[in-house]
Amino acid sequence: MATQFVESIMEQVVARNPVEKEFHQAVQEVAESVQDVIDKNPQYAKAKILERLVEPERQIMFRVPWVDDKGNVQVNRGFRVEFSSAIGPYKGGLRFHPSVYLGIIKFLGFEQIFKNALTTTPIGGGKGGSDFDPKGKSDTEVMSFCQSFMSELFRHIGPDTDVPAGDIGVGGREIGFMFGQYKKLTNTFAGILTGKGLDWGGSLVRTEATGYGLVYFVTRMLQDLGTDWKGKTVVSSGSGNVAIYATQKAQELGANVVALSDSGGYIVDPDGIKLDTVKRIKEVERGRIKEYVDAHPGAEYHEGCSDIWTVPCDIALPNATQNEIDKASAEILVKNGVKAVGEGANMPSTPEAVEVFQGSGVSFGPAKAANAGGVATSALEMCQNSMRLNWTFEEVDNRLKMIMDAIYDQSVAAAEAYGKKGNLVAGANIAGFVKVADSMIAQGVV
Ligand code: NDP
Repeated sequence: MATQFVESIMEQVVARNPVEKEFHQAVQEVAESVQDVIDKNPQYAKAKILERLVEPERQIMFRVPWVDDKGNVQVNRGFRVEFSSAIGPYKGGLRFHPSVYLGIIKFLGFEQIFKNALTTTPIGGGKGGSDFDPKGKSDTEVMSFCQSFMSELFRHIGPDTDVPAGDIGVGGREIGFMFGQYKKLTNTFAGILTGKGLDWGGSLVRTEATGYGLVYFVTRMLQDLGTDWKGKTVVSSGSGNVAIYATQKAQELGANVVALSDSGGYIVDPDGIKLDTVKRIKEVERGRIKEYVDAHPGAEYHEGCSDIWTVPCDIALPNATQNEIDKASAEILVKNGVKAVGEGANMPSTPEAVEVFQGSGVSFGPAKAANAGGVATSALEMCQNSMRLNWTFEEVDNRLKMIMDAIYDQSVAAAEAYGKKGNLVAGANIAGFVKVADSMIAQGVV
């Protein structure tokens, strides 16, 4: 009966959204997690909650023409998928990466609905982006692209409607260019993006939030294993925003982070990654991770990023991109004695990898819960913008910690309530789903 429900949802999703395999993967996981909840709560089946949630409220696709430094006209494709406004304005990042197509944006937007519900803040779910690749482009080219992107996006967003943020390929520089264009087009200074600069409406801790939040979440997982970060060997993939600040907090708490990567390869520094070097290469010079070994000859560089999971560790933090840990990598991690996996990236473990971790007794923190600190702090930025006030670093950091604790507690409690003790994947999906479902029922069929 329950399996039939998942099958029928998946049949409809695949038929309506062919080729969007990442979106299918995200829906399948949620459907499997919430089937018992729907069985036990007939009002959700009657109101067709999941059937409605898999259909975005609105999908926008648009042309983004811009001129490169050589005077050539370039054309990219822009997306904004506004998935659910059941509990607040659409909220979710913008990703600029050549792999972006509708299926990636929809998997991210769908996940965002439940993640945002878990944060305890009033924000709905959305996601956007483009197949534009900022890597190797000059600042002028990035500005030209961002201005063109916002020239269409501006009519769809607003502080009470839809508030995008950054994601892969979208950091402070890109947010700045898009904010400037919005202001020029609308003649309003409004909190329509988060991740803004501190002098013009940004929040302290937003830069650090996803990485720090991930470490706060994994701290709770480790506590339940009767341990902490001290002396633990950690491997993190990526070397972008999430990886850098997860590394920083893990090091502060006494861990030895020994490996980081980018899409070209990975570095191993057995004495511990020197984060100042990584920040210089990645945040200032926009270089490649392999340059790390020029400054630290004791470290090694390996071509190709997927073998990073062969580096033995106690704690693995996949912080780069979707489906970066497959079954084979998960098996190697388990064989090498990994105790906990915390997902900083969105959907970085394939379903088969998740099965390996859960089947081997590895403590597993799913992205929806473990990386929600970024969007939660974005919600705190929105709050400060509405009040036209700025909170201190300590105040925002304390709120972030409280939110990560609340996410952990809700996920644990929901898993237990539905007979899935210790399964944080199910717990996070169920806790997020119930909040959204009850709000949808209260608001009628809209
Ligand atoms: P950044 O663009 O700052 O960094 C991304 C990192 O991942 C880079 O090191 C990049 O390498 C690597 N990477 C990206 N795509 C691939 C790929 N296809 N294969 C291998 N490596 C890849 O992004 P973020 O750190 O912000 O985001 C990382 C992950 O965290 C994403 O999944 C994102 O959705 C998720 N996330 C981010 C949040 C945030 O607040 N920033 C919030 C919640 C989740 P290279 O430079 O070579 O491309």
